[in-house]
Amino acid sequence: MDADNNTKQQLAAAVKARQQLEVTYESQFQILTQFVSRLSLVCKGIDVELDNKLARLRQDLNRGTDLEKLLPQLDATTEQLKQIEVKQTLDVKKAQYSISEAGKLLQKQKGLPNQLRRDLRELLSKVEEPAPSLQAFIPHLTDLTALYQTALSAKQDMDLQEISDSTRYDAICRQISIELTNLLSELAFEGKHARAIENIRLSLLAELTIERLLEACLRTIEIIISSINEERQSAQHFLLKLNEALTSVQQSLISSQQNSNSIKEKMQLLNQQIEHQISVLGKETQTATSLEQLQVLVTGKLGAITNSLQQKELLERQEREMLMLAVKEMEMRLRELEAEAAQFKKRLAEQKFRSLQDALTELPNRAAFDERFELELKRWKRYDKPLSIVLADVDHFKNINDSFGHSAGDKTLKVIARALRQSLRDTDFIARYGGEEFILLFPETAVNELEGPLNSLREKIKRIPFKFKDQNVPITISFGATQLRPSDTGREAFDRADEALYDAKREGRDKVMFKK
Ligand code: GH3
Ligand code: MG
Ligand code: MG
Repeated sequence: MDADNNTKQQLAAAVKARQQLEVTYESQFQILTQFVSRLSLVCKGIDVELDNKLARLRQDLNRGTDLEKLLPQLDATTEQLKQIEVKQTLDVKKAQYSISEAGKLLQKQKGLPNQLRRDLRELLSKVEEPAPSLQAFIPHLTDLTALYQTALSAKQDMDLQEISDSTRYDAICRQISIELTNLLSELAFEGKHARAIENIRLSLLAELTIERLLEACLRTIEIIISSINEERQSAQHFLLKLNEALTSVQQSLISSQQNSNSIKEKMQLLNQQIEHQISVLGKETQTATSLEQLQVLVTGKLGAITNSLQQKELLERQEREMLMLAVKEMEMRLRELEAEAAQFKKRLAEQKFRSLQDALTELPNRAAFDERFELELKRWKRYDKPLSIVLADVDHFKNINDSFGHSAGDKTLKVIARALRQSLRDTDFIARYGGEEFILLFPETAVNELEGPLNSLREKIKRIPFKFKDQNVPITISFGATQLRPSDTGREAFDRADEALYDAKREGRDKVMFKK
């Protein structure tokens, strides 16, 4: 009975232990199942077939299928995993290769910032290190993308720089063109030079490349030089004439001197003869013994003396005449010379005048303005009276040229110039500053006194009935005005007037704007 009891107890204990073991096993299997499910979920998306296999495995595990039944499934999945591993190794190599190629391509780009080059080199060396998985490349890819971005924005900056280079080029061309046009307007030549200058001026109305502009500059220089040469030749010609005239005066002086010298010698000789005859006569009269003899003697000698005296008088007259002739000749020469000099002076004065006058509008040109402005600035400082300066610019003038041709443009400028000049007081000053720009000086005038006059001037221009190709074309003009401030330089006042003019353009043109 005891033995029986004992055995029963042992069995019960064994059953309990076994149950406990099963519970433990069950719970461990559960944990493992969950873990495998989770792990399989992480692997999802790598390969469709693997995904399917893992899904089935998860299902079976969740259903609590026997491990034994799962074994073939596990084998197949393991095989699949092996294949995937091979493929992944290949993929890692490919990723390594293509990231490294992309990096090298970036390295080849010109003009990369230095820091970017250093970062890129470092990245490339990291990419070349052996990597366990594709994931390891993700940070490299992110870095490379960032580097590409930096490079792109650096390149964009460079492109912008290039754009600004090209605008700068345009601005330089425009500036050269304006300066050259101004220079040309100050050159007043005649004949063939005038025509050549006019051609250059017309060519500047188009937009030119720097090469063409330089050509135009060179051509202008050539013309100036050849005209200077001509001018010099004409000055040389004058000097030659002067020299010739002086030589001839000198020669006639010398010859008249020579003449009078030889006459003097002759006279001396005659005087001696006369003296001699008189002394001979004196001696002979003393030795004469009879009156008759004396009479014969005296008569004979007197005849000789009279003869000599007559000769002497003739010589003297000859000398006077010769002198008169020489004086007359000199007088003539001097008169010629005087006429020549006067003409030369006139030409010089014309030259000077023309170099201060704009050939097209006949207004003073920019050089004349500079001269006058300097003078007015001195007066303004000395007398402490206000001085105003005004810039005027024809509105949309380019349209006139483009629509009706340059000669229409030229005529327009002439008409506007005349209208402007006629409306000014004698003490005011106007010049063509260049192109379609005019500059005005109003001495002893405060800028607020100009509001009325400038606006009527503006209205007056607007009312001019321009007609091109049977078309009425209203033309307007904008003004920018300012007054000299005590601390101003001429340049500063000019710039302020220019700013005011720009304001007038910005405000829609056909305006008078002031900058106090
Ligand atoms: P805005 O109202 O802004 O002043 O426009 P705009 O067209 O008047 O100004 P822009 O400076 O663009 O053009 C001025 C034009 O004047 C360019 C040039 O062809 C022309 N021009 C300059 N000088 C002369 C000239 O002596 N004769 C002719 N016919 N045209 C000239
Ligand atoms: Mg202009
Ligand atoms: Mg204009």
